[in-house]
Amino acid sequence: MLKDSWFTVQKIDDSTFAISEFGHWEKVHSFLLLGKDKAILIDTGLGIDNIKRMTDQLTQLPIDVITTHVHVDHIGCHGEFERIYVHEKDKDWLVNGIQGLSIKQICKDIGRDITLPIPDTFNPNTYRPFQGKPAGILNDGDVIDLGNRRLIIYHTPGHSPGHISVFDETNGYLFTGDLLYDETSIYAFYPSTSPVDLVNSLEKISEIEDVSMVFGSHNTLGLKPIILKEVKVAVEYLRENNLTQFGTGVHDFNGFSVQF
Ligand SMILES: [Zn+2]
Ligand SMILES: [Zn+2]
Repeated sequence: MLKDSWFTVQKIDDSTFAISEFGHWEKVHSFLLLGKDKAILIDTGLGIDNIKRMTDQLTQLPIDVITTHVHVDHIGCHGEFERIYVHEKDKDWLVNGIQGLSIKQICKDIGRDITLPIPDTFNPNTYRPFQGKPAGILNDGDVIDLGNRRLIIYHTPGHSPGHISVFDETNGYLFTGDLLYDETSIYAFYPSTSPVDLVNSLEKISEIEDVSMVFGSHNTLGLKPIILKEVKVAVEYLRENNLTQFGTGVHDFNGFSVQF
């Protein structure tokens, strides 16, 4: 484990690292996956501190950034990297800015409940989310070949229209972004989200075979794959009880909860 003033790096295996921001209430994880010829960084964190300081210590390989979705806490340091990729349906927010949330609200959320020292470069009042053009677009079923490691892209909308999950087929790691994590509710209640899509996406990831570990982007780092069985139960329950719609509130399951 590598701990610096802001980031905590945990080694998942010799070529997989979680870079976490436990000093912020959102407890965000970004993931660095090393291959033979290049590395993939799944999301770039909150942008409170510079995640490149950590990736520079972990690899000399060129890094491509994959965006699980365009929310503030996942694109914070996108500007530090040359090649960033996003799903077509979240591209507009990446290029033109996040809609439906005021800058005032964004600044409030990014700046509250911080428990670790922040760098001088961070000022919550002048914070602005990254905006920029992607180097390319990610599509459902895309395979990213790292030479010795294959990643499969799953389009999993609901939490955002262009949300993706990433399956590391070689190691069985499923990176679920904000589609599935524990402790706090996963949600679709914000404008631009869709409860129906979210439930369909949960069903989609529950059918992926040979998952060895599930890595959500928030809270507990690494969830046992048994959670995918509970996801199947949840999907059925939500559909049967007509709960996949806005305003139905929080629905608790074993190991996670969903809020619409
Ligand atoms: Zn999100
Ligand atoms: Zn998030």
